Amino acid sequence: MPSDRIKIVWIYPDLLSTYGDQGNCIVLERRAALRGISTRTLHVRSDEAVPVDGDIYLLGGGEDRPQILAAQRLRADGGLARAVEFGSAVFAVCAGYQLLGTEFGGEEGQPVQGLGLLNIRSGRGEKRAVGEIVGDVDPALGIPRITGFENHQGITHLGPGVRPLAKTVIGLGNGNGFEGCYQGHIVGTYMHGPALVRNPALADLLLSWAVKGPLQPINDSWAGKLREERLRAVLPA
Ligand code: GLN
Repeated sequence: MPSDRIKIVWIYPDLLSTYGDQGNCIVLERRAALRGISTRTLHVRSDEAVPVDGDIYLLGGGEDRPQILAAQRLRADGGLARAVEFGSAVFAVCAGYQLLGTEFGGEEGQPVQGLGLLNIRSGRGEKRAVGEIVGDVDPALGIPRITGFENHQGITHLGPGVRPLAKTVIGLGNGNGFEGCYQGHIVGTYMHGPALVRNPALADLLLSWAVKGPLQPINDSWAGKLREERLRAVLPA
């Protein structure tokens, strides 16, 4: 096996995979391949053990009940927590984002225990956030403006040690003027779209964490066109 091989783990496609979030896998595979970095992707269903030796773990969005079930199974499994201890990267969307926190709101708004891998707490907001989302990313990450699609009821509070991923320009995100968060090598976001298709710089951030170094630049004019089209559709000229 070549030493540069990246193992991508897609967690619970049977429970957490709404709005095309699985496209995030394809983008990571493709952007690695364009740089000559081979990848292997493992789809881990909710009745299977989560391997601890992944480089990048992906979690997608989900309905309220599958989200609760996913949190229970991931807590009982413990594999993701161990991988995070070893420094693996995690990219989690919406339901997947919320369940990495200490607590999130269930289908009746009841508090449900999360994995506690992110120091965040989510509950239910007054109204459902549905629509396009645009945000200006924390300059420390060196990533251009993010674009995505949100559809969630949850609102998320960040605790100490967690930084917001972006300041919201359009949309609700966490519900307090910010969208998503990052802590160590974990990134959480409310962006579907899929998020990494619309925001290849985020995909490259995860890949650079996985290879532990900078990546060579690639020509991504198609991704650029998609981004321009999406941003033009919602931002005033
Ligand atoms: N059930 C969660 C919420 O509504 C997550 C929804 C989703 O993943 N789209 O906040």
